Amino acid sequence: MTNPLLTDWTGAFALPPFAEIRDADFAPAFDAALAEARANIAAIAAAPEPPDFANTIEALEQAERLLDRVAGVFYNLSGADSTPAREALMRDLAPKMAAFSSEVTMNKALFARIDQLWQARGTLGLSAEQARVLDLYHKMFVRAGAALEGPAAARMAAIKERLAVLSTAFSQNLLGDERSWFRPLTEADLEGLPEFVVEAAREAGRERGQEGPVLTLNRSLIVPFLQFSPKRELREIAYEAWVARGANGGETDNRAHAAEILALREERAHLLGFANFAAFKLDDEMARSPDQVRDLLMRVWAPAKRKAEADAARLTEMMHADGVNGDLEAWDWRYYSEKRRVAEFDFDEALLKPYLSLDAMIGAAFDTANRLFGLEFRALPGPFYHPDVRGWEVTRKGVHVAVFLGDYFARGSKRSGAWCSAMRSQKKLGGDTRAIVVNVCNFTRGAPALLSYDDARTVFHEFGHALHQMLSDVTYQFISGTSVARDFVELPSQLYEHWLEVPEVLQKHARHYRTGEAMPQALIDKLLAAGTYDQGFSTVEYVASALVDLEFHDGPAPQDPMARQAEILRGLGLPHAIRMRHATPHFAHVFSGDGYSSGYYSYMWSEVMDADAFEAFEEAGDAFDPATAEKLERFILSAGGSRPADELWLEFRGKKPGVEALLKGRGLLETA
Ligand SMILES: [Zn+2]
Repeated sequence: MTNPLLTDWTGAFALPPFAEIRDADFAPAFDAALAEARANIAAIAAAPEPPDFANTIEALEQAERLLDRVAGVFYNLSGADSTPAREALMRDLAPKMAAFSSEVTMNKALFARIDQLWQARGTLGLSAEQARVLDLYHKMFVRAGAALEGPAAARMAAIKERLAVLSTAFSQNLLGDERSWFRPLTEADLEGLPEFVVEAAREAGRERGQEGPVLTLNRSLIVPFLQFSPKRELREIAYEAWVARGANGGETDNRAHAAEILALREERAHLLGFANFAAFKLDDEMARSPDQVRDLLMRVWAPAKRKAEADAARLTEMMHADGVNGDLEAWDWRYYSEKRRVAEFDFDEALLKPYLSLDAMIGAAFDTANRLFGLEFRALPGPFYHPDVRGWEVTRKGVHVAVFLGDYFARGSKRSGAWCSAMRSQKKLGGDTRAIVVNVCNFTRGAPALLSYDDARTVFHEFGHALHQMLSDVTYQFISGTSVARDFVELPSQLYEHWLEVPEVLQKHARHYRTGEAMPQALIDKLLAAGTYDQGFSTVEYVASALVDLEFHDGPAPQDPMARQAEILRGLGLPHAIRMRHATPHFAHVFSGDGYSSGYYSYMWSEVMDADAFEAFEEAGDAFDPATAEKLERFILSAGGSRPADELWLEFRGKKPGVEALLKGRGLLETA
């Protein structure tokens, strides 16, 4: 039987033939795809003709065509719908893929050709995009160690392979801990919980094969539980289980992995001539240096901490008035904060949900894209890779733009969080190829599914990433869509969240799922007024994580990351009742791969820009101002990595962003 992963996909939009793909197809498909890629790369490196852009860079762009296709399907599935077989293959593939990527970047003959082109770059008559792509390839090879010789080169390859194994183990341990912990809830334990939390707990119980409701560590269940449960001991148990993920001892403990990962990263940076891993990592980012990052974070830290301390005092008073003595603890914060929000803003999150059905919020995200960029969405029949997944064709003026898939509900086979991935990226080389983009979330099911305001924001956030992929308009895949600096990649997503706060968007789309009535204006006003609520807390827990990540990598690697983490937090004076948003043993951003290592700050770096970018629309006097939207698409959403991020920003905005719009947006300006 032919392997459906290896045949040409001739169905509508050349989508992967999901229904035909079996788990057993992946291993042989990866073998075949890797073999093909190896042969292609060997041919490029050994070509008798002198190197030119077409026979070297363009050939490289197409060398992994089959591998891109197989990996695009597999890595989406392994994150969104894992099975033991897929997990085993993940573990098998991690060292194989790392070894392959090392082989390519350590191929001396290949690097010699790229280097020769790069040295002659001014004389090749390249377009601006081609020059940028050549420059990025050259940089990638040098950063991967292509210029290293002898034992240093061998050590680099060994480090990368080991890091790939460790980061996969880190993710799987985390998933293991998230999956194995649950606590049955008695009827008395459900007291004080709003209906949607009770329903989510019952659903979680059904999914775990339990008789009654259970509490799990899924963020969209445990956070509302901590917010609403009046049972302090239960909140403590739940909170401690949540923050112990990856630190439970035994086989799934991540602490030793974290220490080894940090040591190997430092060694890697030294081999490449950098003082430490942060210097190496940031050399490639918009921020450029650890000092610039620290400077930004500390400018935000001080006002955020002042705000959080004032809030802690207020919440402590409320707790004492509630008859509970002693200190406000981490498991108390969300509970009293919720009470305070209801008291001071007369605002109950549970009242919102009936207006925020998943379908209404998807409709709002689509309609916003229609008004800004003229995009239209047409539902596709499927089937896709799981019965939960929905798909749409995206067009503009009748022309195909992309395929968008939405995989919105939590299930045991999905890793936690929300993300956007491209199963296929946009490019023009070798034929016009349009993107297949997936948004994956972990919302609680329901009939219909009703979202929290946070969840609704996630719909917009991930859709912002999807637009960055779908509107991409470049020739080379290497710089397509979200292939931009890490501290720039959250700009489109975080910017898109602003449209959810545009009153007319809520008026039009936030409709009661039963009556169809629009959300009452008073509720919208309260919601928007509460927008900056508890930002002291959110900012402090985030910045603490970002600073720990930065300090871990900006200096000698700590032998005991947990001790170093405690030391950094003491130095900052983290308020007693707030902990890091992600502590080391479950800090997947930093340890489940290299993506956000010494890069967790990038969300805030991007927020500085997104706040400032949305001001461009406000200055134009219209959240849908066509001229500003056109610039946004031209210089940011369609441009990918075709130019350095700071240049793209300046083209769009005409000036550098300041931190004030962010502080204002978070309601921290008055305490600054
Ligand atoms: Zn994002």
